Amino acid sequence: MMSATIQKPNYGLAQSRALELLFNAGIGVPPVNPISIAEEILKIPVRFVTFKASESERISGFYDGEDDVIVVNRDEFPLRQTFTIAHELGHKVLHEEWARSSEYQVLLRNPLEQNRDFREKEADAFAANLLMPRFMMDEYYSDLSHSELSRLFAVSVPAIKARLSFLYGI
Ligand SMILES: [Zn+2]
Repeated sequence: MMSATIQKPNYGLAQSRALELLFNAGIGVPPVNPISIAEEILKIPVRFVTFKASESERISGFYDGEDDVIVVNRDEFPLRQTFTIAHELGHKVLHEEWARSSEYQVLLRNPLEQNRDFREKEADAFAANLLMPRFMMDEYYSDLSHSELSRLFAVSVPAIKARLSFLYGI
């Protein structure tokens, strides 16, 4: 083989699948609850689990393809748990076959340790579009502070900041 193809993330697909899910769920205002989307729309249970200490330090959560459930580290910061659930839903919606394969990697707490697979970027984009879709952000971003937006959208302040920077360059 001459060279490996580096596959680029398909952010457009991640966005359209997230918006489709919001539309199908009839959700038009924040906060978006990814647990109800998982359980009521996609019929995927979300389990909050106490990991053993060595795993709890490292792992945010994962999609368990065998049981078709999302497993979340019970000891993590709640707003981070929300993002984990949305990220893993992204794998379920976009990459289910891969998520059931040995290549799949659980979501780690330290993003620097995460593999750089294009699917991780797509799952992050899916999560951002599900929890902070542009049409909702447009309504509020100019009038509210970062902490107010964090409370309204039920996501962390760093997640809000990353989204503001991505959408509006601020
Ligand atoms: Zn992932």
